[in-house]
Formats: sequence, structure tokens, C-alpha cells
Amino acid sequence: MAETLQFKTELKQLLQLIIHSLYSHKDIFLRELISNASDAVDRVRFQSLTDGSVVEGDSNWKIKLIPDAANRTLTIRDNGVGMSRETIVEHLGTIARSGTREFLDSLKAADAKERPEMIGQFGVGFYASFMVADKVTVVSRMAGKPEDGVRWESAGQGDFTIEPCEKAARGTDITLHLREDCAEYLDSFTLRTLIKKYSDFVEHPIVLDVEKDGTTSEETLNARKAIWLRPRHEITEDEHAAFYKHLAHDTNNPLRTIHYKAEGNIEFKALLYIPGHKPFDLMFGESKKGLHLYIQRVFILDDCETLLPKYLRFVRGVVDSPDLPLNVSRELLQQSAPLEKIKSNLTTKVLATLEELKQKDIEKYTSFYREMGVYLREGAYQDYENKKKLADLLLFESTKTDAGKYTTLADYVDRMPGEQTEIYYLGGDGREMLEQSPLLESFKAKGWEVLLLIDPSDEFVIGSLHAYNEKVLKPIDQVASDSSGVSDEAKVRYQPLCAYLKEKLPEIAEARLTNRLKDSAVCLVAGEHAMTASMERMMRRFRQDGEMPESKRVLEVNPEHPLVQAVQALLAKDRGDARLEVAARLLYDQAVILEGSKMKEPLSFAKRLNEMLLRETQRG
Ligand code: ADP
Ligand code: MG
Repeated sequence: MAETLQFKTELKQLLQLIIHSLYSHKDIFLRELISNASDAVDRVRFQSLTDGSVVEGDSNWKIKLIPDAANRTLTIRDNGVGMSRETIVEHLGTIARSGTREFLDSLKAADAKERPEMIGQFGVGFYASFMVADKVTVVSRMAGKPEDGVRWESAGQGDFTIEPCEKAARGTDITLHLREDCAEYLDSFTLRTLIKKYSDFVEHPIVLDVEKDGTTSEETLNARKAIWLRPRHEITEDEHAAFYKHLAHDTNNPLRTIHYKAEGNIEFKALLYIPGHKPFDLMFGESKKGLHLYIQRVFILDDCETLLPKYLRFVRGVVDSPDLPLNVSRELLQQSAPLEKIKSNLTTKVLATLEELKQKDIEKYTSFYREMGVYLREGAYQDYENKKKLADLLLFESTKTDAGKYTTLADYVDRMPGEQTEIYYLGGDGREMLEQSPLLESFKAKGWEVLLLIDPSDEFVIGSLHAYNEKVLKPIDQVASDSSGVSDEAKVRYQPLCAYLKEKLPEIAEARLTNRLKDSAVCLVAGEHAMTASMERMMRRFRQDGEMPESKRVLEVNPEHPLVQAVQALLAKDRGDARLEVAARLLYDQAVILEGSKMKEPLSFAKRLNEMLLRETQRG
């Protein structure tokens, strides 16, 4: 008995989009189905290394295309791992990954031309079938479970049916009931061309029955070349581009290619590609896939953290080593010492390639950094061993760069005047706001550069570096008490004002004099060991409830400012004057605004300001 089940909501929406708006690049459905078939074969072959029973006497791994003109169907058959009822419902009934919502939104917004690529890259390639078929039938049976055949069928309209069925051979048959205008996919010439174009690198044979002199034989359509095993100088740029596109389901060329052979303690070949753009699967949520690991041409796994640290998850490619153990479980393999060596070797290579790109072509590197910098920042934060190299790869805006332009830490240090010993930075929500900070005034006067940290992760990263080339990295809004530039006379004269402010403003830790300011009357800073304002704002955003114990800030007062002088004079004359309290409040409020923090009581602020303005206007 067939049972009818609903697709999950998000899948329904995806199918709607596919069926009603995907007319271009329809071809890629074949690449996606073959890629799934090839994955399935890889999986059963890998299982067979430790459990011979799954082979069932058939280790002639292959993928077969079966066009049927009479019924207008195209079947893609594999003898891979197959699916059980549970796995088929899970894999072909839900989108079981994070970021799906965001993905769908951006799919809707995207150019129709780009959509098919996005579908493959995000990892919902199976559904591309519905670009060419108005009904899809999947008959599958899991390796080692001869009794458990299952038949899945759907018109992509919101539900699918599922029922048990007989299937003698292990693996999956995907039958596409082609739409009337898609009959071209029955044509063997078209199929040959598409396989050459999209699936030539697939390592299992993709075959098609051909008649010759009255006999039928299987023709293999793909070249199956393991390009990573060939000598470096033999591979053309076009071949690299094609292989990268195959691996990444991307339409663009790779930004950089890394191809080398390691010899010595452990032998391996690596062919890696650095994409120029953020891959779609990383754009929305997280993908678990990474470099493909082969042992003597046998695909073993592609888990993201096996061959590279997680932060380099944008790198695509293949690693093949004869020195890894073939007959062990995935877990044992992942813990093996040679694998660790390969990982650290690959990491070094990728970072060196990026460093070289930065030095040779800063423009290209900058546009790479705009999209992928987020991963390098993550690395600089996490990878203790490669901290220095990663710090060198970071880019920041600063008071000496134009808006949207960057400097490296090395260039910053080169520009430091002799008397400057530390690297300064200020974090906040945008360049424009940061540029108005009163804290920059004295740095500008001295000609000292300040890094402007605009990306929310920058401040974490910088904080975790502590120093660069032995120069301490310092937030300019977190400062130890320093009244060295303030005269003793001023200290005595303004002591009552500082005490008064402290008394009237329970929010602050203290009020003190400063010569840090030039044009502004007051500013807020964090105490020497407290969190900076932007860091605190960020931490608050991270917390679900938005609750964060607030650290009290220090209110710094500029004794050279006429307003400060006037308030002090008023205080000396009449401590009871009602205007004093208003002034204390307004001084504090403006410091909060300048700091970029949110004012707690904007209404009372407006009221105070209005009262003052009223007095002022009535007086005139
Ligand atoms: P992805 O391949 O990126 O996971 P797809 O939408 O292409 O996304 O496929 C979804 C899932 O369906 C696969 O991960 C796999 O588990 C299962 N699947 C699809 N085709 C096959 C097949 N031919 N054999 C076994 N499992 C398959
Ligand atoms: Mg797929």
C-alpha cells in the first residue's frame, strides 16, 4: 500500500520555485543526479573495505543512463549504497540543514540564470530533477538489505508517495518522466555532450547502452581522469577550471590553484582550489563538506575538518595519499597521526598561497578578503599555531585609509612615528560613527593612526592577538587613568566638579580629568580591565535574553572646554543651583551618544534639552 506524505514546508517552497521559474541551465539536473549516484557508490565502496557483505557479489561500480523514448523517461541507475524507507523519507522529504530559510529568500531574489547553480551548491541537487520532469520515481534498496526495496514517487507538487517494492540489485534507480519540452535528454548525443561537459571527472564509469552490428554493449561516456595524480605541468588552466567547477558546483573559475606532491615522512598529492567568491553552501548556514580524501584513488571521505582546520572550509580540492590505512573505520582514520601531518602541511600551504597573493596582487586579495575575510578572522582567533601568519593576512580600515580601503598590520607598523610604541584601535558600528569619536582627537593631533574596527568580529580577533610584532594592540576607549598632562592647579580646581558628577551619575565608575580631548567636553572610556563599549554591545547581541551585566564606565572631563569651565564656576558659586543637575545629565548623555551606545532614557534627555532651549529662547 502506498502511503502519501507531505514535503516539509521549506521543501514545498523550493519545489514551487524550481517548477515555476527555472528555465535556464536545466542541464545541470544530470550533473546533480550523477554526483549523487557517484557519492552513493563511493559510500558502499568505502563500507566494503571493512564489511565485505555489502558488496553482494557486485563490485563493478557504475552509473548507468537508460533513456526510454517510448515512455519518455530517463533513468539514472547506480549500484551504490541505496536508501531505506527511513533514509529516503529523510533525504527526499526534508531539507535537513541550517540556513534553508535564508537560502530560499536569496534564491527568490537571485537572477533566474544563477538559480540552478545555487541549488547544486547549497546541497539540494536532487530536486533539480523537477526542472525537466513532471514526475520522478525513485526505486532504491540499501546495500546488505535485499528484502527492503522502497519506491518513492512525486510530481513535486507538495506530496510524495512511498511504498515497499521488490528490487533485486543494490542501489538506486531515479526515473525522470520528462516534460514534453525536455525530450532532448533522451538523445544519446545530448547525453554524451552533457557528461563530457559536467561529469567527465566523475571517477566511476557512466555508461550508456549502444547497439552495434546487432549487439548491445555499454559505452563509457566519461574520461574518469584523476587529474590530481598527473604531473603538475601537464595540466592546463582550462582543466583546472573544469575540475574546480566539478568539485565546487561553481560557475566561476578558482582564484588560486595549489597543486603539489609531498614526499618524505608521508607521501601525498594535493590539488586545492581557493574560490574567489564565498561558496553558496557557506553563505547560508554551515556545510559539513570539505576536501575530498582519497587513498590510492579510492574516495574515503569529505568531512570538513579532516584535512584542514574548520576556518579554511572555503577551500575545495582533493588529497590522495598511499600512506594512510585503508581498512580502518572513519574514526580511527581521522585520529591517525599521518593525517594530522597532512593537515598541518596543507594549512601552511594555503596560508602561504594567500600571503603570496596579498603581496603580488593586493587588489585581488582585497576583493577576496571582503568575502572570505570572515574565515581568516575566525582562524586568527582560533589557530594558535598560525596566529602570526593569519595576523599578517588580516585587513583593517584605519584613520589613514579612505573609507572602504584597508591596511595590513605590517603597513600600520611601518607608518608608526618613532615615539609611538603601541598599535591603537577603536571598535564600533560603522566608519562614520567611529570617525566622530572624541577619543580620536588627540591621536589626530599627534598624527598617530588608529585602526577602525567595523566588522563585529574584528575586536574579538584583535583582542585575542594581544600584540603584533611585539607592539601591544590597544583599544583607545579602554585606558588606565592618566592625568599626566593635566596641571596640578586644574586637578585641585576641578576636584569638586568630578566629585559632583560622580555623586549625581550613579552609572559611572568615576569622573576624572583628561587631556585626551581637544574639542569635546567629555567622553566615556572603559576602565583599564573592563570591556570596551563596542565589545559589550556585541556580547549583549550574542546573548539570547540581551542581558549583560553592565560595566561602569569612566567619564573623562576636558578642563580646557568652556562648558566644563562654566559648570565648575556655577558649582563653586551655588551648589544648590537646579541647572547643575541638568548639566551633569546632559554631559553624560552626550558622552553616551558619542560612544555609539544606546541612551537608556531618550525621552528624559529630550525633555531636559527642550527645557534648556526654552529658557534660552525666552531669554533672548
Ligand atoms: P546533497 O547531495 O548535497 O546531499 P541532494 O539533494 O543532491 O543533496 O541529495 C539529498 C540526499 O539524498 C543525499 O545526501 C543522499 O543522502 C540522498 N540521495 C540522493 N540520491 C541518492 C542516490 N542515488 N543514492 C543514495 N542516496 C541518494
Ligand atoms: Mg547532491
